[in-house]
Amino acid sequence: MKKGKVFIVGAGPGDPELITLKGLKALRKAEVILYDKLAPPELLKEAPAEAERIFVGKSKGRHPIPQEKINQLMIQKALDGKTVVRLKGGDPLIFGRLAEEIEALEKAGITYEIIPGITAASAAAAEARIPLTHRDKASILSFITGHRKNNQPLNLPYQELAKTGGTIVIYMGVSTSEQISKGLIAAGMNPETPTLIACSVGTPNQTIYKTTIENLPNTIKEKRILPPAIIIVGNTVIKNWRGREDSNPRPAD
Ligand code: SAH
Repeated sequence: MKKGKVFIVGAGPGDPELITLKGLKALRKAEVILYDKLAPPELLKEAPAEAERIFVGKSKGRHPIPQEKINQLMIQKALDGKTVVRLKGGDPLIFGRLAEEIEALEKAGITYEIIPGITAASAAAAEARIPLTHRDKASILSFITGHRKNNQPLNLPYQELAKTGGTIVIYMGVSTSEQISKGLIAAGMNPETPTLIACSVGTPNQTIYKTTIENLPNTIKEKRILPPAIIIVGNTVIKNWRGREDSNPRPAD
């Protein structure tokens, strides 16, 4: 029997054109696709018509399919001899539960390959036309998560983060924005530090708001911002922002 293999593929965020050529090639030869909520659904059209498409999406606080189930499914399909694509939003190497999936694959002795993707931070910064780093102004870039497994307390190193003077990108931070905003300001960050909230980047619903670290929770409430949204905090970087104050910067010029 043919030996199965798993390709863990980064689909990129929102815009289906942001997948890598390597990822697309894997998708085009897939026999089974296990795809997440944040993987652009248009990409499924690229897979062979007869490929089995299985939605294993999860949203915060709700786990339609537990992680162990996803691992089992992925392993079972590979043991059946299938070419499996595990299609994940953004870059699977960043806040993508990659460790859990590869640990399970290794335990089961399944061959696998990881194909990186474009992470939400890069796509959001590109759409807002800001760099994430700057030779003179931001030489440190921190990716942090506003959500931990089983809703454990965040426990972020606010003192260190507030001191870097670089750029901070917050993934999964919509519901904990107040805590993070207060934590950073209490640790000495300037409350006026410019902050971007980029929602549904790369989709027709993309909206990018500009605010400050102090007003971040208010803006989220006022604008009724829902995930997926990524928050970029950075004094110097955001000064280059050329979008409109409070909406989609794409049609602005
Ligand atoms: N592996 C993914 C991140 C998964 S964590 C990546 O590299 O992008 C999920 C979080 O990513 C969301 O809560 C949000 O903060 C961010 N995210 C993913 N897709 C996004 C999108 N299209 N627009 C804005 N934020 C997004």
